[in-house]
Amino acid sequence: VKVIVVGSSHGGFEAVRELLATQPDAEIQWYEKGDFVSFLSCGMQLYLEGVVKDVNNVRYATAEGMRAKGVHVFVRQEVASISPDKHEVHVKNLADGTERDESYDKLILSAGAVPVELPVPGNDLDNVYYMRGRDWAMKLKRATVEPTIKNVVVIGSGYIGIEAAEVFAKAGKNVTVIDILPRLLSVYLDKEFTSVLTKEMAENGVHAASGETVKEIVGKDGKVAKVVTDQAEYPAELVVEAVGVRPNTKWLADTLELNSNGTIKTDEYQRTSQPDIFAVGDATKIKFAPTDKPAQIALATNGRRQGRYAVKNLTDAKYPTPAVSGSSALSVFDYHFASTGIKEGTADKFGMTTQSVYVEDTYRPPFVPADQNPKVQFKLTFDPTDGRILGAQIMSKADVTANINVISLAIQQKLTVDDLAYADFFFQPGFDRPWNIINVAAQKAQRELA
Ligand code: FAD
Repeated sequence: VKVIVVGSSHGGFEAVRELLATQPDAEIQWYEKGDFVSFLSCGMQLYLEGVVKDVNNVRYATAEGMRAKGVHVFVRQEVASISPDKHEVHVKNLADGTERDESYDKLILSAGAVPVELPVPGNDLDNVYYMRGRDWAMKLKRATVEPTIKNVVVIGSGYIGIEAAEVFAKAGKNVTVIDILPRLLSVYLDKEFTSVLTKEMAENGVHAASGETVKEIVGKDGKVAKVVTDQAEYPAELVVEAVGVRPNTKWLADTLELNSNGTIKTDEYQRTSQPDIFAVGDATKIKFAPTDKPAQIALATNGRRQGRYAVKNLTDAKYPTPAVSGSSALSVFDYHFASTGIKEGTADKFGMTTQSVYVEDTYRPPFVPADQNPKVQFKLTFDPTDGRILGAQIMSKADVTANINVISLAIQQKLTVDDLAYADFFFQPGFDRPWNIINVAAQKAQRELA
């Protein structure tokens, strides 16, 4: 069987890996239109902050390494169109300008997404940057050490925008984060958490301008000079836009059925509307466990899962891709947070009625000295009618983020507050308290539901 995989990031890489593992006789062609295979934007912050020294190490695999495993890797070669009837793709070699057709038996698309560009005047000025992919990583790195850049405005306060803000604050720049929503990180965290984080950011040189709409980016000599919102003006020698992603699917609009938001329509076996064409990753939706409906959740974890399931279902559609909870974690200066599922602040967006309990505790028992016993904040969100777990958020200066994986599993397995209230979690004073904070919150939820 000849399988063509398009895109070398998370979804494409996982599909190729699974093909190698389970279909040793398959002829695999792997296409990447960029000049670099399998760059991981997830690792960009570690590179920009100097933890990882070489940008070329921020990847899963090299073309040479994959060729040694028998994969036909094509770099700087774009799959420009698909002819499903002929089972062919049209390939443009961007290095030498030649074009050709390639046949396939199965085609797996992981063409990903691209950053949304703000439709405001001045968006085309020099020094308007984005945080995705290796090319931007290298430009951003140069900007961290560019002395003429003193003021950085980040537009968008999702986790990518906050990563950018932290990078530039640590590089000694004066940083402002603008968001149209009333709180930073409000898609990930409710206000009990964001009020603490906003203060932490301010203390570290990141100024929050939330609840403001960007109207214009004003330039001087072709370069950014300031950002104008409906309420204020901010000087800027660099703007980083992180206002979301747009699926890279325009080139597929005549070939495959798309959802209204531009993502490729797939079933739970990753099959598209055309036979033998599968799609995975940021260009698709995935079933969101709290609602049991497809949602666009752009995460590497989802792309990798889908990449593997596309291969499992290549011949027979037998294995539905498991629903996901949309879990993510981030460190913001001294704090570590993680969240999953639905929050009080996102319930309306998903058309869900929710109830939440919020608890604070110390990380370890009270006898542990305060300097080694930071506060832990936790919020559990559930269905008020049957106590089903729908989401949670956790934050502390201690790294307690892994607790969120328990909640993610609880959401997937449709567990309730009763299941979690007395669930058996370990206790050891070096790590936690006799009642894990999940037990504490679920017990409080039980009392409120009684
Ligand atoms: P993409 O990563 O978008 O890659 C698509 C690839 O396909 C690109 O290399 C592109 O050049 C190539 N391509 C597209 N069209 C064609 C074509 N026609 N022919 C040939 N090649 C083509 N997720 C997490 O889970 N955890 C994190 O910590 C995390 N951190 C992130 C930090 C940042 C700064 C960013 C930007 C994202 C982060 N993500 C994280 C999200 C994660 O990176 C994405 O969900 C993931 O990259 C999606 O993978 P993908 O395979 O769908 O596509």
